Amino acid sequence: MNDRIIYLDNNATTAVTPEIFEVMRPYFCEKYGNPSSIHRFGGSIAADIENARRQVAALLGATYRDKDNCATEIIFTSCGTESDNSAINAALAALPERKKIVTTAVEHPAILHYCEELSRKGFTVELIGVDNCGRLDMSAMEKAVDENTAIVSVMWGNNETGTIFPVAEAAEIAHKKGAYFHTDAVQAAGKVPIDVNAAKIDFLSISGHKLHAPKGVGALYVRRGIAFTPLICGGHQERSRRGGTENVASIIGLGEACRIAKENLANEYRTLKEMRDAFEAKLLKTIPRIRINGDLENRLPGTSSVSFECIEGESILMLLDVFGICASSGSACTTGSLEPSHVLRAMGIPYSAAHGTIRFSLSRNNTMEELDFVAEKLPPIIARLREISPYWEEEK
Ligand code: PLP
Repeated sequence: MNDRIIYLDNNATTAVTPEIFEVMRPYFCEKYGNPSSIHRFGGSIAADIENARRQVAALLGATYRDKDNCATEIIFTSCGTESDNSAINAALAALPERKKIVTTAVEHPAILHYCEELSRKGFTVELIGVDNCGRLDMSAMEKAVDENTAIVSVMWGNNETGTIFPVAEAAEIAHKKGAYFHTDAVQAAGKVPIDVNAAKIDFLSISGHKLHAPKGVGALYVRRGIAFTPLICGGHQERSRRGGTENVASIIGLGEACRIAKENLANEYRTLKEMRDAFEAKLLKTIPRIRINGDLENRLPGTSSVSFECIEGESILMLLDVFGICASSGSACTTGSLEPSHVLRAMGIPYSAAHGTIRFSLSRNNTMEELDFVAEKLPPIIARLREISPYWEEEK
């Protein structure tokens, strides 16, 4: 076993970086007051939360500030899932006469499972498909959105393949029919430029742990003027839009993460893309019968979904693990069997390839040296597994 960890699973979660941790540190044992308190000890923390709110708003291009300079379009939540659920819940409440939700077949379960729940309650849910490169069928979307549609929800970037969707175009389709538009930008925030005003977004979700802030914090952008019904009711926190005492340290961490991401966006985009592309080029050169999944012209910079034909992703992961290499497979364990993920199935990737799909996802903590190491270890792993694969024999 190898002591060294090469972490290439950053779409699952990222490390909190030391700079971000240091900014959070005082809020555990020193500045532990409740931001809702009247006394200065707690009250001063409310001002720090407002600073974090402005930092999040700046990353998303949200420009509106109220008279106290608060970025009121940002609501802090507990995670990306809560932000996604809250957006749909709020849109349905704001347009109660409309009973339809249009979304895509490749959304995260945070959207899809919430929509399944809503369909059991009588709402109509229409899922728009993708082609085999993961590109959204925009003409199907145009047809699906109608006067009964309350909300259209299209993710900014896909967590499995990195494919980036035309959210501005989808927002326009929604608005033409009077529907709201939400985007799940959990994977995109901090990796590609986002401007909620330019793209005319009504709701946008982000999650702290995908951009080096802690787990258990997220944010929802809600365009000014939209009547917002909270998903979680309680105290008057977040201007009565999300009850519950604020997760102060994590909110401060999320603000700082957004500040750092904004400052380094262009550089990091370039570095991650160069590393990812060089890694993929090496694999394509040294391993036969593989395919890179997603829209290769339009992907998040650090995501690489690779299908190795005729073997199982889980076996690859186990052998990579021996070298301390962490990645993800493109399968979901349902009722004991490994089914290719809903994203790969929606793309129509053949089973023999979908089963052997691995997602490598990078962050600013990775180096080219690490990727070279992985690219060196993979060819013998794949060859060894194919040797014992009955499917490989058949295919030869
Ligand atoms: N949306 C996308 C695209 C994701 O990738 C994830 C997490 O993997 C989520 C939503 C859920 O975020 P959280 O884990 O913060 O609930």
